[in-house]
Amino acid sequence: MTIPPLDAIASVETFIIDVPRETPYLGPLKDGEFINDKGYLIRTGNRSIYPASDLTVLIKMTGESGQVGWGETYGIAAPEAVKAIIDNLLAPVIIGRDPSDAAVIHEDLYDLMRVRGFITGYYVDALAGVDIACWDLYGQLTGLTVAQLLGGRRHSTLPAYVSGLPKATLAERCDLAVEWVAKGYRAIKFAAAVSDEGIVQEMAALREAVGPDVDLMVDLHWKFEASEAIRLIRRLEPHTLYFAEAACQPEDTEGQARVAHGIGVPQALGEEWRTVYEYRPRFEARAMGIIQPEIGHTGITQFARITTMAQAFHMRVIPHASISIGIFTAASLQATAAVQRVPYHEYQHSIFDRNLRFTDGDMGCVEGHYAIPTGPGLGVVPNDDVFNYIRKV
Ligand code: MG
Repeated sequence: MTIPPLDAIASVETFIIDVPRETPYLGPLKDGEFINDKGYLIRTGNRSIYPASDLTVLIKMTGESGQVGWGETYGIAAPEAVKAIIDNLLAPVIIGRDPSDAAVIHEDLYDLMRVRGFITGYYVDALAGVDIACWDLYGQLTGLTVAQLLGGRRHSTLPAYVSGLPKATLAERCDLAVEWVAKGYRAIKFAAAVSDEGIVQEMAALREAVGPDVDLMVDLHWKFEASEAIRLIRRLEPHTLYFAEAACQPEDTEGQARVAHGIGVPQALGEEWRTVYEYRPRFEARAMGIIQPEIGHTGITQFARITTMAQAFHMRVIPHASISIGIFTAASLQATAAVQRVPYHEYQHSIFDRNLRFTDGDMGCVEGHYAIPTGPGLGVVPNDDVFNYIRKV
């Protein structure tokens, strides 16, 4: 007997969203840093490029029924590339497919380009956005949340850790940390890329400022060779470090494992990996104790597979949060709600709070906890305001 389709994908549209911000992500510009004529700056602390505005790519998937699913993907650098991949390659291929085949569609789209070597990067980011839209449409059609579609809603809230203290001086960053604790947050991560007074000094000062009961984490921004990283993290441990993130360069799988085995706290890794194929060698090498999947890169299908694999390796999941107008943040909360061992979800306060105005739904983050939206699919939809920020290509 043939199972009737729930719906058929009729159209897939993409929008580059560009929301100006007063202070660039990671805080004010430092000496030698400037915004170029395309709107990007290079952080001297970690040699990485960032947009001066909030850049992202929205995906609207409409079924023949008229029902709509929304997706969003990582658009931090050259969002035009992701848009072109979706418009020219992915969308035409999936017209007519049943959105309830979301994971199957994801695998089929991945297969299109694997022999050409596009097994990560912009191509897989484009897949992630389409995948999120597909799962949302599936949820809209069934009335179920994505968490339910993934096997069950284990959490209705998630503890949020405050990510980054975007102030120019260590004294100001300590004051900001104290403010967050007063608002009910129990975990804070600082960014080594902007710890100009010294990373150990910053850790010591923050611990002094917030007291013993707050979990403190450090993002080392891929700055160190493995032995250097081990020595440094060992010096942070007496100040009770909760995790050390991304000590070595992303390509250095062996160095990542050496760090994990040489320190007395969990290493947290994974924000830049997109598939189980990238995670697998690190799982096998026990290169981390905590994984940080970024759903803007993984989509829901790979996020679910990666987090399931993490459970088999007895690693905890603390999802990454990047620049989003709220759609892939909701996807991350939904997919995380189905995961068992989740001590925290990252909270990019300087992005999440100001962009919450772009979505309708009951998503929020107050007093140290995210509220996972309860509506069907992702549980949030973009509202009209976001379309005032479409960038014309
Ligand atoms: Mg990071």
